[in-house]
Amino acid sequence: MLPFTGSPLDRRSDKRNDPAWVAERLVGARILPLWQGQVLLTGSPVLKAAAVPLEVAQTLVTPQGVMVFLGLEEGDLGETRAIFAFDVSGSVDAPEMLKSFGAFHDLRTASLLLRHKDLAILSQAKGMIEWHSRNGFCPRCGAKTEVADAGTKRVCPLCGTEHFPRTDPAVIMLATYGERCLLARNVNWTPDFYSCLAGFMEPGESIEEAVRRELQEESGIAVGNVRYCASQPWPFPAALMMGCYAEAESDALTLDPTEIADAVWMTREEARALLEGQIEGRRGPIKSAIAWHLIDGWVRGR
Ligand SMILES: [Zn+2]
Repeated sequence: MLPFTGSPLDRRSDKRNDPAWVAERLVGARILPLWQGQVLLTGSPVLKAAAVPLEVAQTLVTPQGVMVFLGLEEGDLGETRAIFAFDVSGSVDAPEMLKSFGAFHDLRTASLLLRHKDLAILSQAKGMIEWHSRNGFCPRCGAKTEVADAGTKRVCPLCGTEHFPRTDPAVIMLATYGERCLLARNVNWTPDFYSCLAGFMEPGESIEEAVRRELQEESGIAVGNVRYCASQPWPFPAALMMGCYAEAESDALTLDPTEIADAVWMTREEARALLEGQIEGRRGPIKSAIAWHLIDGWVRGR
């Protein structure tokens, strides 16, 4: 199962619009605080999501801070507990106040060391808090929106539009040509970093069409068969990465210099060495990213 997927939570979309039911769940809930985009973690060497008591979390939530019901979880003793995310970004003292519970970390960096199910839950938490932080105003009429349904939607009090959390679909693909695959370096990446090509889907496109367009635009190659592999939520801030294999019709590259600094065709052995950090001056994607799994799968003959 891919990292960032596999959440054990039951989101209870049938009950989260009932304020009395939500208030009952809040008693004894696991509260996961997020602060300025970072998540509270504890444990070593395996990291776990750190929860804080409700009364502690409530002292740190400012009027701008949102509380989101994430779902119900079965505890170690078979009991059912609710999980909430609290945005405590407005409290400058939060890291100091919560240091007995854990420390705040960047989720992407910590993803390599986080327990699988906690990474999935925190992915949802971060995605939701990020969405709230960017949707304070109605895109339809410009009025301030209000939080509703335990933080799972926003409503515009002026025009009545309901706003639901957004996910931005993106394609990420490993292009192959015979026994070689295409790995590239984006102009915004560090000079040693090589990975799959990727890009956001545009309206009116299928996944396969987006894969073909992105590869044509960025590397100049025409693509025949496109094969969907798997998807991965990527809450930085709101992407859903849809991973594909794409069969190139030629290996002649014409790079888009505004996007791609370099691109190379690698054999299975070279791609394996890249993933294992054995090519001097070059490194591949982190193991928690779907790019790593696409390359790894192809190296293994998928
Ligand atoms: Zn509105």
